[in-house]
Amino acid sequence: MPAAPTLVSALVPGDEHFGELMKRRTKFIVIAALACFSSNAQNIDFAATQIQTVKIADGLYVLMGGAAQGNILVSTGSDGILLVDSMYAPMHEKIMDALAAISNQPIRFLVNTHLHGDHTAGNEAMAKLGAVIISHENMRKRMATQPMTPALPVITYTGNMTLHFNGEEIYIYHPAPAHTDGDSIIYFRHANVMHVGDVPSSLRYPNIGVNDGGSVDGMIATARQVMTIANENTKIIPGHLGPVVGFRQIEQQLVMFTAVRDRVLNAIRAGKTLEQVVASKPTADFDKGRMDGAITPDRFVTLVYTDLARRAK
Ligand SMILES: [Zn+2]
Repeated sequence: MPAAPTLVSALVPGDEHFGELMKRRTKFIVIAALACFSSNAQNIDFAATQIQTVKIADGLYVLMGGAAQGNILVSTGSDGILLVDSMYAPMHEKIMDALAAISNQPIRFLVNTHLHGDHTAGNEAMAKLGAVIISHENMRKRMATQPMTPALPVITYTGNMTLHFNGEEIYIYHPAPAHTDGDSIIYFRHANVMHVGDVPSSLRYPNIGVNDGGSVDGMIATARQVMTIANENTKIIPGHLGPVVGFRQIEQQLVMFTAVRDRVLNAIRAGKTLEQVVASKPTADFDKGRMDGAITPDRFVTLVYTDLARRAK
């Protein structure tokens, strides 16, 4: 994905190129998709994409639509359906078919983990069906400035909130700015199930929304916070892949993240350029088992460098 760093770093409101980019609608779609998962929505073969439904607890299911779609968590019960995230818009009919196979209840709530299109572009169709969309306040603010705004959340929170739904206490909280500055983590206390969105959880290199308020240190802090709320039995649903990861995998991601951060920061302090740091392959001893995601090691190092370099200034 050699072009990605340039494209993503160009997408900064206030940047002199931003106005120009806003006009170039087609290109903007590409950039918006890259901002989340480095996969271009226009390149996804939606017709060929199937939804896989995995039951993970009574009344709780994960809908997976391949690595490029954000995983949806479904709670279904006597109160109705609650969804966490909505995938890309063209997935809507397939999502509805998958839901029909597990529930005949109406969709009451949709909680977004963060603003990226692979998690929210399906909001519009869900809102039309009556879903009340919930997010962190920062997510809604950022989404409202986008040129192609999906249906905006109607309920926002700042610190945390709890939904009492289908016999569950669903605790929604906002970690330190991590993948973006509007992330939500959704924890079903009774079932001990957590959807963590795109904070580091899968064994792949995570994306950092460096232009959406995300930060390396926030990703590390959030992974630690997840580990204080979760326990060894918690079923942790990542934003992609999965359907479930464990405590141990988050620990492994923390070790990797902390080591790479320190290496890149030391290199920045030693005056190394981005090209030099990427060429030095600071992730090499962690690459095994982490090569199946959309974020390549070079891309990951670029994100870490980009974030740390501007903070070091
Ligand atoms: Zn994302």
